[in-house]
Amino acid sequence: MNLKDKLEPLLLKVQKPARYIGGELHSVVKDPAAVDFRIALCFPDTDEIGMSHLGHKILYDIINADEHCWAERAYAPWIDFEKLMRENDIPLYGLESLSPMAEFDVMGFSLQYELSYTNVLNMIDLAGFDPRREFRGEDAPLIIAGGPCAVNPEPLADFIDLFQIGEGEEMMMEMIELYRAHKKKGYKKADFLREAAQIPGIYVPSLYDVEYKEDGTIASVTPKDGAPEKVVKRIVQDMSSAKYPETFIVPYIETVHDRAVLEVMRGCIRGCRFCQAGFIYRPMRAKDPDVLCRQGKSLCESTGYDEMSLSSLSTSDHPQVEELLDRMIDYTNEQKISLSLPSLRVDNFSESLLENISNIRKSGLTIAPEAGNHRMRDVINKNVDEQEIFDTCRIAFEGGYTSVKLYFMSSLPTETVEDVLDIGRLAQKIVEMYFSLEKRPRKMVNVSISVAVFVPKCFTPFQWVGQDTFEMVEEKQKALVDSIRSRKISVAWHDVHTSVLEGVFARGDRKLGAALYNAWKNGCTFDSWTETFCYDKWVKAIADAGLTMEFYASRTRDLDEILPWDMIDVGVSKEFLKREWEKAQCAETTRNCREQCANCGAAKLMTCKKGAVCFE
Ligand code: SF4
Repeated sequence: MNLKDKLEPLLLKVQKPARYIGGELHSVVKDPAAVDFRIALCFPDTDEIGMSHLGHKILYDIINADEHCWAERAYAPWIDFEKLMRENDIPLYGLESLSPMAEFDVMGFSLQYELSYTNVLNMIDLAGFDPRREFRGEDAPLIIAGGPCAVNPEPLADFIDLFQIGEGEEMMMEMIELYRAHKKKGYKKADFLREAAQIPGIYVPSLYDVEYKEDGTIASVTPKDGAPEKVVKRIVQDMSSAKYPETFIVPYIETVHDRAVLEVMRGCIRGCRFCQAGFIYRPMRAKDPDVLCRQGKSLCESTGYDEMSLSSLSTSDHPQVEELLDRMIDYTNEQKISLSLPSLRVDNFSESLLENISNIRKSGLTIAPEAGNHRMRDVINKNVDEQEIFDTCRIAFEGGYTSVKLYFMSSLPTETVEDVLDIGRLAQKIVEMYFSLEKRPRKMVNVSISVAVFVPKCFTPFQWVGQDTFEMVEEKQKALVDSIRSRKISVAWHDVHTSVLEGVFARGDRKLGAALYNAWKNGCTFDSWTETFCYDKWVKAIADAGLTMEFYASRTRDLDEILPWDMIDVGVSKEFLKREWEKAQCAETTRNCREQCANCGAAKLMTCKKGAVCFE
């Protein structure tokens, strides 16, 4: 019986069967006999989340543009379908061809968040191979990974053959060319990996020996077989000429971002000290408005989407944002397409920008002050003052908005309980300001506060900091909730257990591979989903590996400690991060890249001037 026949009766028994059938508009089907390289782009979460991921769409488009190569998609099956797959001997398969993974040359994982790691192991196992690279035979596809979490590849070093560090556009095709050349002459994994390690941006964990001290910290990391001491991140030099999909696969079921997504720039000029993306995607590179208008039009026309989103880490920092919006709005108004700008900052939220946005839609306004008082915002280098937050809310209220969502972070370095209470005080002042306005909607206001628990990440100025313990987080949560008296303010808090586990893996070392393997063996998958996350299993898995959460999460590192990710170079220097950490402790701010270059080190990655902030 072929796989299609086997699948049909099973799909009637699962939630959302369309997750598992492929065949969507614009998915790419090729003749397997006409290509000599096949890769499954694997996303370790459900179809609805993976289908929304822009990096996947870009790689899918670039690889499939080569007539010799075929890229397909594979997502983590939800637990109901996984059970049926195992009971019926159905291996993980590519959605375009329904071929089992054994027929692919490469399985390439996108690592977007640490709590998806057990799904990586589970997908390799479902493909019919041992997740541990040491026990995987030559018959298995090469297992590769990239994405933001790959900047600390070490917790997955026991499972992944090769990591791509940085932006995959060019590096992926160079790796594929090398793979095809090895395939022609008789592929041997070890030989291929040795040569692949010479491609800039590629990290092969088996080519690095790690020694530990008695206290568990790293004594040394030694590259072998000619592998580089530092693997330097790859970046796209000119975003305007970089290949971007002219169309997207149109899903059968609603996905998280079910719209035309236009990437307006990469990187961020701000340097908020908690934000890993702000450092690992440096330097900021903007796309030309002409290119953006052409790409936006092409995406909407080819997919039929009636919604377009301008995506980046901070869209209002695009150097030509007003011109871009004017031109986009002309097009979207004419075509009755709604336009959204998910990432706006309060300090450059001008009245005309708001007017433009309010032409588009008047739902809730979302802003991210991140901390409740000025001192804390200086510690994290948010560079926003209270007046700017009030002004933004006032402009929004006067423009007809009645609901504001404020994003905060708690358990930040140097934070006290009083600092957390200032989050509630700020929300209360916004409510009072609403009622003091003459020109405001005659409706009730709603201020909702969402508070994330701070997780220290590598390659940020807070990479050495110990995370708050459970007790400290809980004390702060309770104090804030108890302090809110107004029914016009609502508070939502991120789960502390998942935040601590994220903290463990974000700054973890190779030893954590044993804990990850135990957790997966104990049945952990979909750890970022509340309905499947099981903290107790993780506690046991980490203890059984002879490790503790405290060592990774709440321990403060010495500034001269060898860090697990020290063999990776993302551009920003350790000296710069140390300077920023010292300034944070004195609540001193650093100007944004456009106002004054802080000499972070990322400029060394640029060879091209066009659209880059470092050369402005
Ligand atoms: S080198 Fe200067 S301008 Fe470039 S990203 Fe770093 S701080 Fe910003």
